[in-house]
Amino acid sequence: MNFIRNLIHKADRSIMYVVLLSCAGIGIFLYMNKLSYLHLSTREWVMVYTMLGAALILDYFTFQIPPKGNQQSMDSSVYLACIFMFGGAFSLSVLLPVSLILLIKDRKLAWWKHIVNFSIYSLMIAGAASIFTWTGGVPGALDGYNLFPYFAALAAYFIINTITLGLFFHFSTKDALQQMKRAFVTESLLVYLCTLILALVLTILVIHNGVLGLLLYLSLSILLSHAFKQLFLMYQSIEEKANTDQRTGLFNHSHFENMLENELASARAAGTPLSLGLIDIDDFKKYNDRFGHLQGDSLLALLGDFLNRKTEGTQVTAFRYGGEEFTLLMPGMELDEAYTFMNKLRKQLNDTPFEGVEVFPHGCLSFSAGVARYQVDMYNKSQLVDQADKALYYAKKQGKNNVHRYGSNDGMEHEIDLVQDVRDIEQQLNLFRYKDIDTFKHSKRVYKYALDLSELLELDNAEKRKFVLGALIHDIGKLEIPWSILNKKEKLTAEEWETIKGHVTWGKKMVMTNERFNDLIPYIELHHERFDGKGYPYGLRDREIPRLCRMLTVIDSFDAMTTERPYQKTKTVDEAINELRACAGSQFDPELAELFIRYIQKKTAQQLLS
Ligand code: GH3
Ligand code: MG
Ligand code: MG
Repeated sequence: MNFIRNLIHKADRSIMYVVLLSCAGIGIFLYMNKLSYLHLSTREWVMVYTMLGAALILDYFTFQIPPKGNQQSMDSSVYLACIFMFGGAFSLSVLLPVSLILLIKDRKLAWWKHIVNFSIYSLMIAGAASIFTWTGGVPGALDGYNLFPYFAALAAYFIINTITLGLFFHFSTKDALQQMKRAFVTESLLVYLCTLILALVLTILVIHNGVLGLLLYLSLSILLSHAFKQLFLMYQSIEEKANTDQRTGLFNHSHFENMLENELASARAAGTPLSLGLIDIDDFKKYNDRFGHLQGDSLLALLGDFLNRKTEGTQVTAFRYGGEEFTLLMPGMELDEAYTFMNKLRKQLNDTPFEGVEVFPHGCLSFSAGVARYQVDMYNKSQLVDQADKALYYAKKQGKNNVHRYGSNDGMEHEIDLVQDVRDIEQQLNLFRYKDIDTFKHSKRVYKYALDLSELLELDNAEKRKFVLGALIHDIGKLEIPWSILNKKEKLTAEEWETIKGHVTWGKKMVMTNERFNDLIPYIELHHERFDGKGYPYGLRDREIPRLCRMLTVIDSFDAMTTERPYQKTKTVDEAINELRACAGSQFDPELAELFIRYIQKKTAQQLLS
């Protein structure tokens, strides 16, 4: 309800603004123009026609400027030149017929927008003309030694344009103020300076050479407009080539990375869903082996064309990820929606005829695919790709030609072999036995706490696997810290502290070499982030830190407090609980700290009883 009320409120304000603006524009026009048409001489009428033609021609031949291809019309140079030559009333006399002709010609634009345009131009011309005469400018007498009135007139023209248009966008769209600043002030400034110079050139040419001067000016403008258009087209085609995969005609991997980054940022900002699909053609190698790479290439081209057609007109964009893998970026789509979409694609592909499909085990073209949905606590884009990849792997294991959602089926995509994984990590941790036995023992204790807590938090298999392995491996980066620092009994120097802090990054690098443990990286990298954003390495805060990493921070700190460490006094359980409470909300997530405290109190009580 509130949303609707806001919308109506917004609509009200924007209608009121349009009405006020139109009244002001038309009023100023009548006041300044004073129906000058009634008093124009034949010579002046000829000039009105000539300038009108010039304005229309410039309105048609716009300057299209890369990278966005915004179309800039230089017609303002005509109105300014008219002010400089004949004054504001004359300039308005040119504006009215131009606006009427555009109203008839450009019917696609709503009539009221034509009136808004006319009003804004009227205000700009009237403002610029008034400032021009006020600062000492004399129409018709171009004074090269007193340029101030020309600049003042341009400034007035520019400022009125920025304010009126800016407010218009502000009232009709929601987030316009910031954009307005960027779009109008920074991008338009150069264009307006060009406009002034062009207006001065036009003034000089017309004063000295009359219509011939105007013709020269127009020819030059049209040629320039053409040159700009060519430049823009060239830019566009180069950009398109750089973003397109030649074999399939789809966008390529690097464009995917860019778009994923952008889409993630907007999903995060707007709180909208975003899903990602990863497709891999089934048994493509068999096809290549049987028919050769060239024929294989044409199958890839067919799939490119297929995905292109199926995603056209939807919010989904398809990319060639590499080899025979494709990605689909699906902004605005929930996991189930994305799944349905991909499954439909899969069935349609099964029914698509292609030469030699009988060599495929399913007797038809098929792919396996994984789908994952963006979650708030994903702090980098590779996590989403990683989940889609895991789901794809599971889909392949299920016998191919199917689509799997990440996280469905209780996370079975992990093929949980926790025991083996634990054994592998423990083998790496064994190095700590000689280097730093405390870290070895600490890792094992933290792992045990994590096992207990994963029951308490009712984690599914996939989450549990990550959490407990993450707890076990979180300090692996300490292997890189010199023995002398790890075992130092005295207080550490600032420099030594910096070295200690490096363990989160080194740990990440070490684990990145083993793809199987890539999803443990957040635990290694983020276990020293703090709830209040004052931790390291990124200074993430609150929910920016994944929940289970926040949990690990609590466990890690509790264990550090309650066990013997070279550099600090050991705390009792009660003291440590008090410390957790004292730092809840700053260092620790208060809810998770409290949850841990309840757990540890219960556990110590049980130990006392037994
Ligand atoms: P699976 O169902 O497990 O995905 O089996 P697969 O054979 O599709 O997968 P695998 O990863 O073993 O092989 C992929 C093949 O894709 C191997 C490679 O020769 C082929 N390939 C990758 N890029 C291209 C390309 O641009 N053109 C051609 N013709 N083949 C390619
Ligand atoms: Mg593959
Ligand atoms: Mg394949």
